[in-house]
Amino acid sequence: AFVAIEGIDGSGKSTVISRLAEILPKVYTTREPSGGPIGRLIKEWALRGGTVDPHVDALLFAADRIEHYRREVEPKVREGYIVISERYVESSIAYQGAAGVPLEFIKSINSLVPRPDVTVILDVEPEVAISRVRQRGALEKYEQMAFLRRVREIYLARAREEGYPVVDAARPPEVVAREVAEIVKKALDY
Ligand code: C5P
Repeated sequence: AFVAIEGIDGSGKSTVISRLAEILPKVYTTREPSGGPIGRLIKEWALRGGTVDPHVDALLFAADRIEHYRREVEPKVREGYIVISERYVESSIAYQGAAGVPLEFIKSINSLVPRPDVTVILDVEPEVAISRVRQRGALEKYEQMAFLRRVREIYLARAREEGYPVVDAARPPEVVAREVAEIVKKALDY
C-alpha cells in the first residue's frame, strides 16, 4: 500500500511519519524531494533560489517523483510494505500552484504516477508552522508566511474536492500520529 502525508512546512510530517512507523506493521518511509539525482538537484539548486520560473520547479518535482516512484516506492509496495511518503503530488499542486503554476499543467506532468491509496493532510496555522520551522534554522524561499497561507488554502481546497482527511496538527505529535494511524488502518482495511 502507498500512503502520502502532506501539509505545509512545520506541520510535523516527519515526526508523525516516524511515529507511524512504530504504530503500523511493515512500514517503509521515504520522502520528496528524493535521494536520487533529480531530488538532489532540487535540494541543492532549485530550492536555494536557482530557478527563476515556478514551472521549472514543477517540472523538476514531477521528474523526481516519477523517478522516485519507479526506483523506490513501487518496488517496496510490491515487497508488501506500507510505503509512507512525506510529500507527493499534492505538494506540487499546493506549492507550485501557490507560486502561480496552473493546476492543469501540474496535473498533466504528474499523470504518469499513480494516486496513493491514502492521502492525509496535516493542517496547522502558518503562524504555528513558522515558529516550528524557525527552531530548525533560517526560513527558506518557500517558507514565508504569505506564501504558506496560500499553500495551506490550496491543500484545504483540495481536501474538500478530493475528500482527503484533514488532521489538526497543532496538537502533540503522538496524538496526531495516533489519529493518522487510525485513518490509514481504516482506509487500508487493517
Ligand atoms: O519537506 P521539506 O520541508 O524538506 O521540503 C523542502 C522544501 O521544498 C520546502 O520548503 C517545501 O516547501 C518545498 N517544496 C516545494 N514543492 C514541492 C515539495 C516541496 O516547493 N512539490
